[in-house]
Parts: sequence; C-alpha cells; structure tokens
Amino acid sequence: MSIISDEKNNFKKVDINSRNPVIEPETNDNDKTFENSIRPKSFDSYIGQTALKETLKITIEAAKKREQPLDHLLFYGPPGLGKTTLAGVIAAQMGVEIKITSAPALERPRDIIGILMSLKGGEILFIDEIHRLNKVAEEILYPAMEDFFLDMTTGKAQTVKTLRLPLPKFTLIGATTKAGSLSGPLRDRFGIIHRLEFYTKEELAQVVKRTAGILEIDIDENGASAIASRSRGTPRIANRLVKRVGDFALVKADGKITGKIANEALDILKIDNCGLDTTDRNLLQLIIDKYNGGPVGVETLAAALGEDTRTLEDVCEPYLLQAGFIQRTPRGRKITPYALKHLGYSAKGFNGQQNLF
Ligand code: ADP
Repeated sequence: MSIISDEKNNFKKVDINSRNPVIEPETNDNDKTFENSIRPKSFDSYIGQTALKETLKITIEAAKKREQPLDHLLFYGPPGLGKTTLAGVIAAQMGVEIKITSAPALERPRDIIGILMSLKGGEILFIDEIHRLNKVAEEILYPAMEDFFLDMTTGKAQTVKTLRLPLPKFTLIGATTKAGSLSGPLRDRFGIIHRLEFYTKEELAQVVKRTAGILEIDIDENGASAIASRSRGTPRIANRLVKRVGDFALVKADGKITGKIANEALDILKIDNCGLDTTDRNLLQLIIDKYNGGPVGVETLAAALGEDTRTLEDVCEPYLLQAGFIQRTPRGRKITPYALKHLGYSAKGFNGQQNLF
C-alpha cells in the first residue's frame, strides 16, 4: 500500500505494484474507499494481534495518565496486515488527529518540513514505507523526533544561518515492510517497535464475517472459513475476496456465500487452497524447472517472471516463507518439500530434491 499527499496535502493511496488485484497490496481509489469504509476504528473491532493490542493499550493508558504524547512507534510486517489501521485505532484511542503520508511523497525537504509544521500538539504523523525516506528527509526528522525541533538553514555560503524552530510534541508512527532496510539512527529514534504477524485462519474468518456484515452479504461459517483459508494470513486479501466472492454468489446463486460457492469462486479466481495465486505458483515452478529447486537469487527470479523485485520480496515472499513453501538461504531462495508436495510432485518425481522427502 502507498499513501501519498498531493500539493494540498490531500492524501490518496496509489498503486506501487502491478499484480493480481486480489493479492496486490493496493490498487486504486475504489479500493481506498472500500478499505476506509471497513477499517476498524477501535481495539474491539481490530481483530487478532492480541499481544500487540494489549501492550499498546497499556502504553496508551500510561501516556494519557502522564498527559504526554505517545512514544514514537514503528510497525513492521508485510502489506495488508493492518499497520495503517492500527495507527488510526491508536489515534482514536488517544483522542487525537492523525496525518497520513508515505515516504515516497516526502521527496523534497519542503514536503517533510511542511507536514511537520502543520502538526498540532499530541497529533500523530503516520509515515508509510518509512524505509524509503531519503537521507535529507531523515536528517530533518532526527531532531524533530528527538527534541521536537526543526533545524533549518537559510542563506548561502558565508551567510548561512541555522534556525531552530520548535515543534509541538507529536508522535511519529512509521510503518515498513522491511525493518532491516531502515537506517540504524532512524530505527533508534523509535521508542516502541512492533512486528505484525500473519493472522490465523480463525482470526481471518472473523475478519471475513465482519466485512460481510458491513457489506450486507449473507455468509455462513463454511463460507467464511473457505475464504479465510485462502487469504494468505492477510486481512486486506480476505476483505477483497469477500467482495469478489459476494459478487459471484449474487450472480451464480441466491447471494449467500456458502463453503461451496466460496470454493467455486476462488477456483475461478485461480487462488488455490493455500491462498497461492498464479504468480506464486509460477515462482515456485520456475525455481523447480529452471533452477533445479534452487538456491536462486530473487533478482534472477524477478527478471525471469517479468516482475518487480520489490513486489516479489515484499508481497509474494513473506507469505511463501512463512507458510513454508520456500526457504531463504545465503545463496538465494530454495524450494521446500512442502511446496513440491503442494504442486503435486511425488517423492521420486523431482530429481533435484528427491532426498528432501
Ligand atoms: P497495512 O497498512 O499493514 O498495509 P491496512 O491497515 O491498510 O494494512 O489494512 C488493510 C485492510 O485490512 C484495511 O482496510 C482493514 O479494514 C483490514 N484490516 C487490517 N487489519 C485488520 C484487523 N486486525 N481487523 C480487521 N480488519 C483489518
């Protein structure tokens, strides 16, 4: 997902990848409207991430008692797991406004300066894809995060002057799919760092039922469970599937999502029973066919598939790794016995990995 601000600081989400729209992190303004309409606004409606929620509730209570803004927070994890949503829930819980932007929208120094100067005391600034901040923007952020000051230089050559402008105390919430790509000094300035986990099938079934309820789509337990098990641990995907399967149910049946209808629709969408789509399966097949099961570098795979490396790394791989379809080794990605089984290879059917079973 990507949210950018335009000249007037209106925020909109833009597409950063070009993949199957069901699996893809974010696509267009319709998606944005849809997502916003179903975004949980409180901890009660925010499903799963139980340990993280409990920790955050305590942190928020403590900050309120001290009448201080929250420490700066960093959330990391694959796209669609609820980082932006959680930032919104925190703002609501603190009773403050949130301004949302993303690092690619903060290209010029004046972008970040403008947004920092627009903040009011206690407000939350959410920066998505924070690992993509450029050096200049990062350096402007350091004193702002640490001491709530903006260091600005004016004039040229010998007449250069540095100005220190005080900023109201604010909370920065950063979100990233790649915590490892964040510079050390920036990471160190976050008081609280949390990882968001993939959701269990049960949690996703709750997400599915909640979304179906908001969209007034009739769904039974089997329908919810079928969609949940093919949503690759990700609420954003679960929500998209509810909509797509809901359309299918309306056209092909009486509008109710049952297990049978869900499975039929998901088969047509080419999402298999583990939530893998065509790109995932092509990736696995490529490692098997062309690289004898791996290891093979992600750039090589991206070039062969005609995909963007970042899309593979940020969108495809986290789930394939977590679900045990591939392994990451120092020399590249390797297929696992589980993936071979899933793709229908028998123990003797694949020379390169025979001994894996
Ligand atoms: P991220 O910022 O991690 O990419 P978002 O916060 O934009 O993900 O979440 C994507 C969509 O998934 C949102 O529209 C939201 O409705 C839904 N969602 C995310 N997390 C949850 C959750 N814990 N419970 C219910 N819905 C969720």
